Amino acid sequence: MLSVFQSMDNKGHEEVVYCNDKGTGLKAIIAIHSTTIGPALGGCRMWNYETERDALNDVLRLSRGMSYKAAIAGLNLGGGKAVIIGDSKKEKNEILFRSFGRFVQGLAGRYITAEDVGTSVKDMEWVRMETSYVTGISRALGGSGDPSPVTALGTCSGIKASVKKQLGKDSLQGLKIAVQGLGQVGYYLCKYLHKEGAMLYVTDIHNEPTKRVANEFGAKVIKPNEIYKANVDIYAPCALGAILNDETIPMLKCSIVAGAANNQLKLEDAHAQMLKDRDILYAPDYAINAGGLINVANEIEGYNRERAFKQAEEGIYDTLMTIFDKSEKDNVTTHKAALSVAKKRIMDVSKLKNVYLPKKNVMGKRDNV
Ligand code: NAD
Repeated sequence: MLSVFQSMDNKGHEEVVYCNDKGTGLKAIIAIHSTTIGPALGGCRMWNYETERDALNDVLRLSRGMSYKAAIAGLNLGGGKAVIIGDSKKEKNEILFRSFGRFVQGLAGRYITAEDVGTSVKDMEWVRMETSYVTGISRALGGSGDPSPVTALGTCSGIKASVKKQLGKDSLQGLKIAVQGLGQVGYYLCKYLHKEGAMLYVTDIHNEPTKRVANEFGAKVIKPNEIYKANVDIYAPCALGAILNDETIPMLKCSIVAGAANNQLKLEDAHAQMLKDRDILYAPDYAINAGGLINVANEIEGYNRERAFKQAEEGIYDTLMTIFDKSEKDNVTTHKAALSVAKKRIMDVSKLKNVYLPKKNVMGKRDNV
């Protein structure tokens, strides 16, 4: 098995912090992948990992993903992530999250946390009792609140960019769009798409959300396993990861895949290539679903909802166009093109190290300004 240092070297991590607080029972790992562009921001996941190694692998993988996501969205942020080892249904309490908050504070702003799978806004409010380096706080406390509407708006904008590139159209009017998963993001996405005049085909494993979307937006409901074969222009995955795989890709009849779900490609390179070979335009998930991250990045600077929504809408459209154009020019998958755009920005910003400036405080302002 690789040592921790070897694993860090492999993915290019700067720092890994093991947090062990016997008093509160906290066992957590914070991974800082890169602070080249700015403080490493990324959510705190709570999960009952089978082994400590599983927890380490997950936090290393997720934190590197955050570096690319922030870089490609043009944010002044690096990539980090934290995992708390434990059962989020049974082991959550105030002192556990306050203890985690103290470890975050100890990093003096090199890492900024947020909610993620297994943690909630309430948990982050406990974290906030110990540190200001936390985002995703409720609107009532001056935070940015639920990120789903802005994620949905960014995804809708990414769908428009995809349509422009693949179909040469400026509007979604009359286009058939299949939305898989009608949870927090899927519902708002349907709302935006309906407003744009799209015809919706929707599915969910639960009846309530499908009924609601059918009633409110005139969507046609289809069975969960029929979504891949649907005769539509665009398929928008908004539920599960790894849904673009050997079984599903051959079934697709659409010419665009553009949705909010994380980690859509089961095998990143192979399945991105499979989509390209079928001439299906794929909007890389971490570029199209960056609305939530853009939202919390705005929270760091003092939250303004209008500015955050505008930045997500315009920024995601432009980012995707850049990725699509690069993919066409270099004849590579959109997945590869996105990675190279993200890595180039990190590389470019790293050149700034040659120019001296007074130290920057982590909330984005120069100390002398
Ligand atoms: P959610 O849990 O609220 O919604 C997911 C929905 O998918 C649920 O309604 C669930 O019933 C449905 N679902 C599950 N399995 C399904 C299946 N096999 N077929 C059809 N429907 C199925 O989650 P969410 O917050 O809406 O996020 C959706 C996706 O977007 C996730 O992959 C998430 O990681 C990603 N994402 C969300 C945000 C955000 O702001 N919430 C930001 C970035 C990425």
